[in-house]
Amino acid sequence: MARWGRRGREPGPDAPSVLVIGAGFGGLATLRTLGRGGLRATMVDHNIYSTFQPLLYQVATGGLNPGDVAYPVRSFTRKYGARFRRGSLAGIDTGNRTVLLADGGQLSYDYLIIGTGVSAAYFGIEGAAKYTLGLYTRRDAIALRDHLFAGLERLSIAPEQRDVYITIVGGGATGVEVAGTLAELRNVALAVAFPEVDPARVHIRLVELGPYLLPPFAPPLRDYAYRQLVDRGVDVRLGTAIREVTPDSVIVADGQAWHTDITVWAAGVAAPEAVAHWGLPQGKGGRIIVEPDLRVKGQERIFAIGDIALIEHQPVPQLAQPALQEGRHAARQVRQLASGQATTAFTYHDKGIMATIGRRSAVVQLPRAIRIRGTLAWLAWLALHIVTLLGNRNRISALLNLAWRYLTWAHGGGLIVGDDPPEGE
Ligand SMILES: Cc1cc2nc3c(=O)[nH]c(=O)nc-3n(C[C@H](O)[C@H](O)[C@H](O)COP(=O)(O)OP(=O)(O)OC[C@H]3O[C@@H](n4cnc5c(N)ncnc54)[C@H](O)[C@@H]3O)c2cc1C
Repeated sequence: MARWGRRGREPGPDAPSVLVIGAGFGGLATLRTLGRGGLRATMVDHNIYSTFQPLLYQVATGGLNPGDVAYPVRSFTRKYGARFRRGSLAGIDTGNRTVLLADGGQLSYDYLIIGTGVSAAYFGIEGAAKYTLGLYTRRDAIALRDHLFAGLERLSIAPEQRDVYITIVGGGATGVEVAGTLAELRNVALAVAFPEVDPARVHIRLVELGPYLLPPFAPPLRDYAYRQLVDRGVDVRLGTAIREVTPDSVIVADGQAWHTDITVWAAGVAAPEAVAHWGLPQGKGGRIIVEPDLRVKGQERIFAIGDIALIEHQPVPQLAQPALQEGRHAARQVRQLASGQATTAFTYHDKGIMATIGRRSAVVQLPRAIRIRGTLAWLAWLALHIVTLLGNRNRISALLNLAWRYLTWAHGGGLIVGDDPPEGE
């Protein structure tokens, strides 16, 4: 007889098995909802932690510790009565209902939910993958931080000062956040943290292909973000296509080469190449095509959720909220199928979007055309991001570190330093 634990019914050995691949926003939401459904759930991720991507830029700019944005997956699976297996999805044998992991392991499933997220899209631009730094994983954030501080350190002992250029490619939320925070770092903290470096010689450049920043936002909020960056001394280049990236330059469409010391790539996302080996239908950006109920097109028992999933005729933004809502929906559909009921279509409830530019500067766009900007928006952004972090320890630590950053960095505080990047990186 099934028992009911603190968080729901404990599954018997014959209960259907659900394999959730990816411990991101979508996968964790799936597990949270499944946890109460009496199914045998296993989560797989190639990391032993779940990463909170929205605050990666704070790790990259020395405001947060890497551990603040990472939560152990096992703490989560234990809480919801699921198992965890570290591994990377390498293939799917739909006939035998088995997944193949990159380390050779195999796991069987009755239902499979894929929420593996996306990574950088380079659009075939020569040198972009090789000579730029991304910001999708905790490793990326640490690498960017280490390049940044190692570069400043080298500059501080250089016999002669020279101009240093940091180029950020992509004027979406990530590009704006990185550019704004780096500009504040230069304007406020640099003089105290690196007194040998002349802040006027550190240049922050933001390059965007389109005619404005933050495309999903209403024009007044886009304009606000643009002005805020310009006021902070960011060189914003709109309508500018990058043709090639070299180790020390970005070459724009008209052939001009702009010198750059560090190039951050935040120009768009696509499914990683590995997805092509899973044998599932892929649409725009390599995303897995799903039906309205989130089952993969042509598949009875496989779902895709979050950034990697594409509902062809009703695409939703690649953000945390859609991933969370899709994760919950997929879990409910599995429960319905397991009890012989039909599935229902997913409906996205738009709760709004937000982006931050820097201290006391952010934009918030809520349904019913409610728009907020400035300090209030920044406080709302801060509160939401702290609350949605996983784990009280991470919340307290992030709150402390961000408070320290924004209250003390004019006095040289608030910088979390790392090591030199490994040789060759
Ligand atoms: C820098 C940055 C800032 C962002 N800021 C915001 C923001 O402020 N607000 C917002 O709403 N959204 C933001 N986003 C977007 C948001 O983070 C994503 O939309 C969300 O994380 C998508 O959730 P997901 O579950 O689909 O995938 P993810 O959260 O990316 O999780 C995917 C998981 O799958 C794992 N994985 C990947 N491939 C495999 C594999 N082959 N095998 C096993 N495991 C695998 C990964 O390790 C990861 O744990 C930001 C994204 C980035 C990169």
